[in-house]
Amino acid sequence: NLFESFRFAERAERTVIDSYRDGQCVASYTYGKLRDMAADYAAELDRAGVKPGDRIVVRVEKSVEALAVYLASLQRGAVFVPLNTAYRPQEVEYFLRDSGARLVVCDPSDVEAVASVAAEIGAEVRTLDSSGQGSITNVTGDRNYDIVPREDKDLAAILYTSGTTGKPKGAMLSHANLRSNAEALKELWRMGEDDVLLHALPIYHVHGLFVGCNQMMMVGARMLFLPKFELDSMIALLPSATVLMGIPTFYTRLLGDPRLDRDLVANIRLFISGSAPLLAETHVEWQERTGHAILERYGMTETGMNTSNPYDGERRAGTVGFPLPGVELRVTHPETGEELPQGEIGMIEVRGPNVFSGYWQMPEKTAAELRENGFFITGDLGKIDERGYVHIVGRGKDLVITGGLNVYPKEVEIEIDAIPQVQESAVIGLPHADFGEAVTAVIVLRKGETLEEADVIAALKPRLASFKLPKRVIFLPELPRNTMGKVQKAELRNIYAGLYK
Ligand code: ATP
Ligand code: MG
Repeated sequence: NLFESFRFAERAERTVIDSYRDGQCVASYTYGKLRDMAADYAAELDRAGVKPGDRIVVRVEKSVEALAVYLASLQRGAVFVPLNTAYRPQEVEYFLRDSGARLVVCDPSDVEAVASVAAEIGAEVRTLDSSGQGSITNVTGDRNYDIVPREDKDLAAILYTSGTTGKPKGAMLSHANLRSNAEALKELWRMGEDDVLLHALPIYHVHGLFVGCNQMMMVGARMLFLPKFELDSMIALLPSATVLMGIPTFYTRLLGDPRLDRDLVANIRLFISGSAPLLAETHVEWQERTGHAILERYGMTETGMNTSNPYDGERRAGTVGFPLPGVELRVTHPETGEELPQGEIGMIEVRGPNVFSGYWQMPEKTAAELRENGFFITGDLGKIDERGYVHIVGRGKDLVITGGLNVYPKEVEIEIDAIPQVQESAVIGLPHADFGEAVTAVIVLRKGETLEEADVIAALKPRLASFKLPKRVIFLPELPRNTMGKVQKAELRNIYAGLYK
């Protein structure tokens, strides 16, 4: 059971979390206290009839109590199914049915919306609000500290993917998947019990929950828990932390604040970024301002982390580094599945102890993406450079095929982003009668700058083959992103579907 890796009993006196609201520390929790909370909730899970292997669907705001629900679920051998808080109660219905939940934990205000489905599928309902109060925290005195033994392959969690390319899929993750990944990362990133992680990520996603919490609890470290990224609190807490795990927008927002300088981050040992591509420019700007090279890594719900830039050695901007120890990564031809020579762009596939066992109740999808030899077809296109660094060039589904020729959005985006007036860009393919798809650029300008479509195309002409040039340029005040900072290209394609018609 992964729960044992956190060695709560022997660390009982150490602090695991300082919880912050509006920049103020409102409560501190020791490993012992967190273990007690999990034991209280474990007793409540028992009363709700939760048995090993049962699914617990949790849609609550981030809190230490919510983390304790996760721990109670692990401890009792149940399968933890956290949901993005952006989902409306009506959408939760789908996940409840899909997962066949035994128990749902939701905000008190959502009880009415989920009650009838819960009754229909025989699920109990418990509550937890944003301040950590609710019926799941019922304390009756009959704590349960028992850790249900689990085999490596037994499920610890089902996490739904972010839904960037379609309907979210439930990735089945075992105790061994989660343990092996956290173990590999803590070695690579030299995590120790003196580390203090500034934790401003949500805990319903692989990044905040597994890369963040699992790893830190495994080494006995401490976390500063913020309900979410909030600029003033981040600035206030950076001097107390040794590690920051962020999505790229954390870094761009911090760079936008004049208070960010070398002194502010003097205590930080490591800045890590992932979940979405970090612009090379952000990496360079960060290094100039703070003296730190951000360590970018690459992963996904189905696999946890796959690659990381090195701790020692060059952290190469615009790359996601090397496969983690124990993880094999190869680049294959998207149609034939043949492994491609080094340097060629193709489909990224990974194999290792981190790779999930399949999509929950989607045998066909599982068979299509998980090869019999154990390689998972990630859906991301990339290449391995001459020094072994992995480069992600975009998702297979975002590839633009125009007049029969492949255009990788990233190669066009890099050139657009190099135009001084441009803040950032997204290149998409839109339906076009002659070309099949037309390369289209969506651009966000830097504050106060102006630029016309013709200027953009003129700037790109000397730098890109003509079939890669955008046929049209759309200017927006910002790109649509989800909570993990991922650009929603599918949304852009929908909005502008009729542009060439
Ligand atoms: P869905 O699978 O439902 O379409 P999703 O793939 O966005 O959604 P996640 O599992 O949360 O769901 O995200 C994993 C994806 O995030 C990866 O496949 C990759 O495309 C992207 N990603 C993660 N880290 C990086 C990175 N460092 N650079 C570029 N892309 C990254
Ligand atoms: Mg995905």
